[in-house]
Amino acid sequence: VRGRGDRLADTVAARDLDLVLVTHLVNVRYLTGFEGTNGACICGEDERLFLTDFRYTERAEQEVEGWEVLTVKGEWLPGVAEHLAGQVGFEDDHLAVRTLAKLESEAPEGVEMRPAGELVEDLRRVKDEQELEAIAAAAQLADEVYGWSIERGLVGRAEREVARAAEARIRELGAEPSFPPIVAAGANGALPHAEPGEREIDAGELVIFDMGAQLDGYCSDCTRTFATGEVGEDAVEVYELVRRAQHAGLDAVAAGKEGRAVDAIARALIAEAGHGERFGHGLGHGVGLEVHEAPRLASRSEDTLAAGEVVTIEPGVYLPGRLGVRIEDLVVVTGDGHRNLSGLGKELTVVD
Ligand code: ZN
Ligand code: ZN
Repeated sequence: VRGRGDRLADTVAARDLDLVLVTHLVNVRYLTGFEGTNGACICGEDERLFLTDFRYTERAEQEVEGWEVLTVKGEWLPGVAEHLAGQVGFEDDHLAVRTLAKLESEAPEGVEMRPAGELVEDLRRVKDEQELEAIAAAAQLADEVYGWSIERGLVGRAEREVARAAEARIRELGAEPSFPPIVAAGANGALPHAEPGEREIDAGELVIFDMGAQLDGYCSDCTRTFATGEVGEDAVEVYELVRRAQHAGLDAVAAGKEGRAVDAIARALIAEAGHGERFGHGLGHGVGLEVHEAPRLASRSEDTLAAGEVVTIEPGVYLPGRLGVRIEDLVVVTGDGHRNLSGLGKELTVVD
């Protein structure tokens, strides 16, 4: 975490702020290394203040690096507010209106709170070596759980049972799921965010399986679509289309490319095949401490990719009442392309 406070201080100055108050815990963790559940940072040119309460003083002294650790005694918000001065940026996408009002009323004379969302989120986009290692390890662990799940088979099991077993296996291997795994068979696969249900998986269906692990705080995200036996020509055709679109999307990734341009390349292939209306989500998203973070690869994205960012490439086609296909890899953006962190093959795999 060394140096992250300095990078934040630079952006604070660039926005003509005196200080920024960071309250979103994931961002606090990113900046300081603190893993407890109550903490805040105040950062400015000459200020690196980390605040917590008495429950976490000891923990903070072990975990927090490069920040002065201060324990707030008594009420939390007044204790934080007394350290504010001048023009103070706050995370408007995370701070409740009521909390802001309380901070404003408790702050010293002359303090002006100004919305400054996404400051830390922007810093988080490019990962350092240690972060890349953690994400790669999470992806590898999820790959293992895919292998384990396939060995146990799919036919005759309930979607929910398959999802819960995978989740338990992730925990057995020492990680957490980065989100509840999605297992959606047959027509359920056409609902991109289907909750795994009690429905038994039949032979001859496509099954979307979307899962990720979280290790040392860092997430992975991967989707494969399996066939439980003979699925028919139409289904195979849709699968191959998504596979081609996914490949084209991967090929388009490189530092300097616009998120919307990469999305457009994959989307064009799906549209040419007549399924443009059936790909209703963005091509991909950043992954890090959170499973969905900046940048975005989507038709309305304003983001430009940079080396060291970690993003998913996950086109899908969803035919209501019939089937769904999604294929998702997790990749590191490099100067001239990408490095794929997902080790699983993408040939249509039959799982009984
Ligand atoms: Zn996913
Ligand atoms: Zn995803």
